[in-house]
Amino acid sequence: MKVRNILATKGGRVITIAPEETVRRAVALLVEQRIGAVVVTDAAGQLVGILSERDVIRAAAEDESIFGQPVSAIMTRAVVIGMPQDDVLAVAHTMLEKRFRHLPIVDEGRLIGIISIGDVLKTQRDAYQGEIDTLETRIIAAGE
Ligand code: AMP
Repeated sequence: MKVRNILATKGGRVITIAPEETVRRAVALLVEQRIGAVVVTDAAGQLVGILSERDVIRAAAEDESIFGQPVSAIMTRAVVIGMPQDDVLAVAHTMLEKRFRHLPIVDEGRLIGIISIGDVLKTQRDAYQGEIDTLETRIIAAGE
C-alpha cells in the first residue's frame, strides 16, 4: 500500500495558512476544520512550516499572549514530508519514531495532500479486514 492510495480515497485537500496570520486565526481554523495541524505556506504556495495543536498548547503554557503573535513565531520549520510513492508502513514507522501525527505529501515540489496517523491506521485496519474477509470466504468455501 502506498501513500497515493490513501490520497486517492481521502482526496488532496490541504488546509493551509500564511506565516503572517495570527495564532488566533490558526486556532480558529483548526477548530472549524476539525483538524490537528495546519500546513504553513508562503505567498508562492511553498511549504514553510507546520503548526499543530501541540505547538499552540506548548506556547500558550509559556506565554498567554501567544494568540496575537504570527504563526511563524511558533510553527515547526523543519517539516518532514512524504511522497506519493512512499510505502504506508514506512511512513507509519517515521511518524511513530519522530512522534508526530501529520505528514504533508509533496510531489515535484507541489503540496498534493496531507495524511495523519489516523489515516494510516484506518488504511491498515481496512487492509486487515479485507484479508480476514478473504480468509473467511476461503474457509467457508473449503467447508462446502
Ligand atoms: P503532531 O503530533 O502532528 O500534532 O505534532 C507534534 C509536533 O511535531 C509539533 O511540534 C508539530 O509542529 C511537529 N510536526 C507535526 N508534523 C510534522 C512533520 N511532518 N514534520 C515535522 N514536524 C512535524
